[in-house]
Amino acid sequence: MDYKQHIKIIEDYPTEGVQFKDITPLLQNGEVYKQAIDDLAEYVKSRNANVIAGPEARGFVLGCPIAYTLQKSFVPVRKAGKLPRPVVETHYGLEYGKASLAIHSDAIQPGDRVIITDDLLATGGTIEATIQLVEELGGAVVGCAFLIELAYIDRGEELQDYDVFSLMTYY
Ligand code: IMP
Repeated sequence: MDYKQHIKIIEDYPTEGVQFKDITPLLQNGEVYKQAIDDLAEYVKSRNANVIAGPEARGFVLGCPIAYTLQKSFVPVRKAGKLPRPVVETHYGLEYGKASLAIHSDAIQPGDRVIITDDLLATGGTIEATIQLVEELGGAVVGCAFLIELAYIDRGEELQDYDVFSLMTYY
């Protein structure tokens, strides 16, 4: 499947110099969306994961259907202040801005094998923050799955020890 033909590139959005990858055309094509979920689910299956964790909002768009397909748990990773019960929380930097994420303290059990899903890997800030929360609760991050990986962004070495899978890479 040539997924890239279903991604639109928007120049200088949301700030000058950023080449925004718009995944909504892919989502709007039911056949392509399903194929993408099936391909990502195959990867999750190969990692023998029992939990899928996804940061809002686009991590839900991928993580929920993967969890549903495989009959695995889905754990929402939300912006701070949105979850009603006790949480673990972390603050991090984005490709363009700052954010904080939280996860319910009882969402991950020690020994859980967790895959983290999101639409796109840029600086890795979002995913590293999510990894930190999962590990704080005793989960093992057995992989990270994306639609898109931006290879031209310098990410440092934090993700080096993790298995990363993506359907598309932009150089
Ligand atoms: P990172 O934390 O720098 O890796 O950025 C990834 C997060 O920012 C993801 O949650 C994406 O949804 C969002 N993001 C960053 N750049 C883009 C883009 O070009 N298209 C769509 N989402 C993006």
